[in-house]
Amino acid sequence: MKKVYLDYNATTPTDRRVLEIMLPYFSEKFGNPSSVHAFGRETREAVENARKVVAQCLNADPEEIFFTSGGTESDNFAIRGVAYRLKDKGKHIITSPIEHSAVLKTVYDLADFGFEFTVLPVDQYGLVDPDEFRKAIRRDTIVASIMFANNEIGTIQPIKELAEIAHEHGVVFHTDAVQGGGKAKLDVQELGIDLLSLSGHKFYAPKGVGILYIKKGTPINKIQTGGSHERNMRAGTENVPGIVGIGEACRLIMEELDEQNVRIKNLRDKLQEAILSNEALKAKLNGHPTKRVVNTLNVLFEGIDAGDAVLEFDKKGIGVSAASACKAGSRTPSHVLMAIGRTPEEAYSSIRFSLGKYTTEDEIDYVISVIEDVISASRK
Ligand SMILES: *Cc1c(COP(=O)(O)O)cnc(C)c1O
Repeated sequence: MKKVYLDYNATTPTDRRVLEIMLPYFSEKFGNPSSVHAFGRETREAVENARKVVAQCLNADPEEIFFTSGGTESDNFAIRGVAYRLKDKGKHIITSPIEHSAVLKTVYDLADFGFEFTVLPVDQYGLVDPDEFRKAIRRDTIVASIMFANNEIGTIQPIKELAEIAHEHGVVFHTDAVQGGGKAKLDVQELGIDLLSLSGHKFYAPKGVGILYIKKGTPINKIQTGGSHERNMRAGTENVPGIVGIGEACRLIMEELDEQNVRIKNLRDKLQEAILSNEALKAKLNGHPTKRVVNTLNVLFEGIDAGDAVLEFDKKGIGVSAASACKAGSRTPSHVLMAIGRTPEEAYSSIRFSLGKYTTEDEIDYVISVIEDVISASRK
């Protein structure tokens, strides 16, 4: 049977070229980067080279790049790190209702330790209103965390504008850009943010490695203590193969992003057109029509159970998602779809298709050819 993977927002396969570059760092080149001998110097150099490439990709300085275990850790590091450092200055945090749980649960957890927070409203497309953001800022606001692009609906926030407002009020600005990695140009100077999170496995590097960009001078504490790794900001022996891999994945993005984005957007738009123009499907778009990452298509199919639909798609060899991967199987409606004004029933009827660089036109044509069957089977 044909197998079609359309769940790239949950995770991506490691690019073969990334894997090839990583392989020696599991066996021949195994030294601890903290060791002073040649074995250690070899891996130290590999880590520092990766840092340079990542910095170049983000238009940052290598000293502003910190390697972590992934997006979740980067989000925790950013928000907790600033909260701990500035706890005597203020205790108020601002975020949005459509953040990944790595951000939301971190903020809720900080609230258990005396911090306070405001969750901004979003509009029907999932956009944060800069004026609402300005209004929410208090004298004791220390940090704001608003995601670059949403993992479920793909909506891209006006990050540059939000960061400017934050800075007018002396608020540190973090963005979870995990869903922007490998999908949109991420230029930290242009965006004007202080902290930015990325995760390797969302852009063709392996799972278990991530990046936190920390602008020079940002008030932040480490959250993981131990050795003096990562310039004394993130303790723990470096994941050398993962870091080498995420560096190569960033290098490939610089070479291939523009071309891939055009191709992926065309395929996504073809699928979107086919679905929304087919009246039998009773389909509506979730998310912003244009301010959206190029690979993401979230659709409400009236009257279906999305859990059943995922299984029906699966029977045809197609991998899609009913909500974010982290929530699959749970019976609470997507907090993202609820925040944009969908009813719980509508949220349970929504499917996310997320394309990637290995998606082909043949695959999209195949999905289009079976979708009526799949959706009608999910309506029973
Ligand atoms: C996947 C994801 C994360 C978590 O990244 P991990 O590397 O899986 O921990 C955080 N934020 C967003 C928006 C994501 O899509």
